[in-house]
Amino acid sequence: MVQTTISPCDVLIIGAGVMGMLSALELAEAGQDVVILDKGQAGLEASWAGGGIISPLYPWRYSPPITALATWSQNAFPDLIAELRDSTGIDPERLANGMLVTATNEREQALAWGAGVSRAVIEITDDEAQALEPQVVLDETPLWMPRVSSVRTPRMGQALRQMCLNHPQIQLCEHYEAQVSGSLSSPVVSSHGQRVVANRMVLTTGAWTGDLLSGLNFRCPIKPMKGQMLLFSPCRLVNRVVLANGRYAIPRADGRIVFGSTLEDVGFQRTPDRDAFESLYASALAMIPMLKDVDLEAQWAGFRPGSPEGMPWIGAMSEKLWVNSGHFRNGVVLSPASSRLLCDLMLDRTPIVDPLPYQPRNTL
Ligand SMILES: Cc1cc2nc3c(=O)[nH]c(=O)nc-3n(C[C@H](O)[C@H](O)[C@H](O)COP(=O)(O)OP(=O)(O)OC[C@H]3O[C@@H](n4cnc5c(N)ncnc54)[C@H](O)[C@@H]3O)c2cc1C
Repeated sequence: MVQTTISPCDVLIIGAGVMGMLSALELAEAGQDVVILDKGQAGLEASWAGGGIISPLYPWRYSPPITALATWSQNAFPDLIAELRDSTGIDPERLANGMLVTATNEREQALAWGAGVSRAVIEITDDEAQALEPQVVLDETPLWMPRVSSVRTPRMGQALRQMCLNHPQIQLCEHYEAQVSGSLSSPVVSSHGQRVVANRMVLTTGAWTGDLLSGLNFRCPIKPMKGQMLLFSPCRLVNRVVLANGRYAIPRADGRIVFGSTLEDVGFQRTPDRDAFESLYASALAMIPMLKDVDLEAQWAGFRPGSPEGMPWIGAMSEKLWVNSGHFRNGVVLSPASSRLLCDLMLDRTPIVDPLPYQPRNTL
């Protein structure tokens, strides 16, 4: 790796997942000089591993502050994806075909949650469900959420990376692991022996955020929650996201199917394993029996930034140190709103939503 000199900047962002890259682009568009450091290549951790459903899985289970961010983001996604595609030539393949979801004991709750929003959650018959997804077998009549979309996460990451590389006010430094020391009010960041000079710093380090903050004697509950996924070869057996019994199938534009996921509290243990494979494979075949004749291309694991109730931390920890992390299972869908909110707060603009619920808290 060729080492470059890291320029002094207005804002240093540590971590180049969707949260770091979108935050950088928001801040740079507002005139800030931004440096992003990532310990690896940008966009290759949770933001690569994630399924890319542009909705919380069972949105009625989440608190209003999460719904507020999700709703803002869902409205922003069509333009964001079009801009990424048109500016970089990399298409994140947004599919706006909706989601079928079995809600078992939560049907009333789901319908009540969707009541105020046109076409958020709709009751359909078995025949209608069958017509939407002829190859899918469900053990109950699903609900229909026609407004849900999905994106191909690795491509969204590549397009964001290219946008950052192209932006004259962003310096993206890959393979630059940041070490953080000092205190919350006076944090010191260095990488490859260079001290990084910045007016303010933002942690967008996903599942690693708790580790970085522990270096500043601050205990934060954000921790890795491993998720494993399977990828099936192009087969065009589903047209839209299908969620049943906690497991989901996500179609890609080329006919591949991503099937997920596990939820494991095992620290940074990255290896995909046999137990997860067997459990996911059995769920996939139960949902889409014809997958038994389809080749499996890959199994992988990623680290969600787990947080209590999935509530992200977005805001200031001191004048110098800011954070935008802890989005748990919903980091892709929440990324546009979270990054805009962070930028609003850093630049003293009117925030898009009430920032109080996301204010970082010391859990010591
Ligand atoms: C299996 C799975 C399925 C998922 N499905 C969905 C879904 O369908 N929809 C949805 O909305 N969300 C989903 N998610 C969640 C979503 O992927 C994450 O919440 C989101 O990607 C988090 O983004 P991030 O930028 O905060 O973290 P990351 O993408 O993990 O980025 C953090 C970055 O920080 C860097 N970093 C860490 N420490 C340092 C350091 N010391 N110095 C420099 N760099 C550092 C890392 O290298 C990494 O690139 C899923 C996640 C998984 C794992």
